[in-house]
Amino acid sequence: MEFLDTVQKVWEIVLQYKWLTFLVAFGAVSFLIYRIVDFLQYMHVNKFTKPDDITMNEDVFKKKRQRKGSRSMKLLWKGTSSWGAQLVFIASIPFLVYWFNQKGISDGYVYMILIGLSFVLNLTLSKLFPLWTPARPYACRAFQHEKAIQPGNMAFHFWGVVSWSVPAYFFWEYFQVNGWIGSVFFIIISQLIQVVIFIYSIKKSAIPYLEYPGLSDNFKKNMQKYLKEHGMKDSEVGVLRMNMGPNAFATSLAGYKQIVITEELIQGYKDPTNPDFTLKLSEDTIEAITSHEVGHIRHHHVEKGIAMGILISSAVTIAVYHLFSADPSNYVLFKEGTSQQLLLYWGQCIFNTMLVYPITFITLLVSRRKETQADTYLLNTNGCKNGKDFFHQIRHIAPVNNLGLWHSCNGTHPAAHEREQRMLEWEKEHCK
Ligand SMILES: [Zn+2]
Repeated sequence: MEFLDTVQKVWEIVLQYKWLTFLVAFGAVSFLIYRIVDFLQYMHVNKFTKPDDITMNEDVFKKKRQRKGSRSMKLLWKGTSSWGAQLVFIASIPFLVYWFNQKGISDGYVYMILIGLSFVLNLTLSKLFPLWTPARPYACRAFQHEKAIQPGNMAFHFWGVVSWSVPAYFFWEYFQVNGWIGSVFFIIISQLIQVVIFIYSIKKSAIPYLEYPGLSDNFKKNMQKYLKEHGMKDSEVGVLRMNMGPNAFATSLAGYKQIVITEELIQGYKDPTNPDFTLKLSEDTIEAITSHEVGHIRHHHVEKGIAMGILISSAVTIAVYHLFSADPSNYVLFKEGTSQQLLLYWGQCIFNTMLVYPITFITLLVSRRKETQADTYLLNTNGCKNGKDFFHQIRHIAPVNNLGLWHSCNGTHPAAHEREQRMLEWEKEHCK
């Protein structure tokens, strides 16, 4: 009988909190779509044949395809287990609160314990578990190889947890529902501080390109002229000596800016899965890549990204404050008189888990548009410098194209073969 009573009560909550049901259903559907797309990608990869414009040993190609196939299968299980783990965590929070209360621990301490627990979970499972980090709302592939337990990552997660939990605790205590204003203010400050620290640390490790011995005088002369015409200082372009693979990126915040190219992009990068191939670019191509990065800066892409991050996090915060402002005992799982902050914490966990895929989808859509815009800038300002060769060579390292649908759900950049094709056509029309 008691069991039936509980079922009855849960059903009443479903009726009373339709928005919560809707949120969970929305989250579940988006999760399922991502997994179906993962499976379709797996099928697509396994039957992909070598493109005609790529010269490569057939065996090497087959091994690469096989590796990519097993990677996409792994992604399917990884996505399932991490989302499942988050569901288990959300479901266990009310029981954890109950259990701690039974031990005579007051809600204030329970709050601190839960925050500490999220820090540890986030840190150790950070490759799977995007629970508290609004600044990194999706599992960014570039960071997947970094070790979890290291000072930079620990500070990042500590800041993520503290900058949410401390404002939420005090602003609710003093202003209740209106406390969201304080929390949103903290989100803005927190995001800005993170970007400033990031730019500062990049600037510290970058070697100014004029001082870098691996680039020719001719390249430096061209670059000086180009940067001057495009409102950049020489000190704002540098070379990064870290094992990040052949890469380049730009970061800026209201005039505080830096472009970096990795040393591997300049000196060459040996394909670890093909002994016959080394990515080696001409200086013209490196110049074109730098123009793409200048495009990001000129279009204020980083600032727009921060604004979007702030907007999304703030909307979620406002929703959490308003939708989880009812007495916690309304949710059956919590007893009467439970601190409201514990309910806020629970609500934030639910929102993060349910919205992780929709937010990822939108963020990546915007990201790909920015990349296309930066490519346009490259073409308009340095279009005849063989920028396409970068993509042609990258395709020798990764010759198997993604399924279009999968790429729309997961790609930070437009597909390399599409970018190469676009530049090829542009060159035919505009160069020589
Ligand atoms: Zn870019």
